[in-house]
Amino acid sequence: MILGGTADANRLAAAVAAEPRIAAVLSFAGRTETPRLPPIPSRIGGFGGVAGLMDYLRAERIDRVVDATHPFAAQMSRNAVDACAATGVPLLALERAPWQAQSGDRWIEVDDLTAAAVALGAAPRRVFLGIGRQNLDLFANHPQHSYLVRLVDQPRGLLPLTNVEIVVARGPFDRDSDRALLEAHRIEIVVAKNAGGEAAVAKIEAARDLGLPVVMVRRPAIPPRRTVASVAEVMDWLAHDSTPTERGV
Ligand code: NAP
Repeated sequence: MILGGTADANRLAAAVAAEPRIAAVLSFAGRTETPRLPPIPSRIGGFGGVAGLMDYLRAERIDRVVDATHPFAAQMSRNAVDACAATGVPLLALERAPWQAQSGDRWIEVDDLTAAAVALGAAPRRVFLGIGRQNLDLFANHPQHSYLVRLVDQPRGLLPLTNVEIVVARGPFDRDSDRALLEAHRIEIVVAKNAGGEAAVAKIEAARDLGLPVVMVRRPAIPPRRTVASVAEVMDWLAHDSTPTERGV
């Protein structure tokens, strides 16, 4: 089973689909209304915590789990560590390296989105929130700013922000378009989670081009687990038997 919700998980699903010896299922949380349908079977929705995931692994006779969730989907990743340890199912995480600040970047690094909202400061600013739909309420306590929010789906109800504009778009994004977006909305500061990878880096590059500060949220902690950075390494792991040390760790 592949735990998905990311472009990496989709790439892995495509690689697995081309390998007839592997029967795989891609699991989505169900946050996106219209997920891109993968070329392998998929399932949608939470498992019901660690116990629910253990039941699923046993019922579906899952041999391996690949955690290809977003680096900020920490609850799912923690549950996978616990459920795989308890059931003896080998677990591998596909995790891209975090972005590193480069010359020209003006990052303000913070530990979470609450701190990110505070880091915007007291004076009103025009803020780009490239953080998805969840946790927007944390910025409601800072109504002096005006916000531009980019979302995958058009929201059904009102967002928990007053002074807000919405742009609906699905990544991957490109640097020039993101620079044009930031310029068109006269954005003064960007808030981003340090996702790493290519799909969402455009806003960081665009901010660098424009000399804009970025409030960069560090990744949440996840318990130690075997981790690789590429689809090729996952395929290699899937092609070989698990070692005794992987089972039951
Ligand atoms: P989360 O806080 O770690 O997960 C909350 C709960 O959602 C989990 O305990 C689990 O429910 C369910 N869940 C999460 N991922 C799942 C999956 N792939 N398959 C089945 N159930 C899943 O995760 P999140 O931050 O809400 O993210 C939700 C999904 O969106 C993830 O799949 C992630 O890859 C994707 N995503 C997240 C972000 C982000 O910034 N957080 C960005 C892009 C994409 P149960 O406990 O009931 O099993």
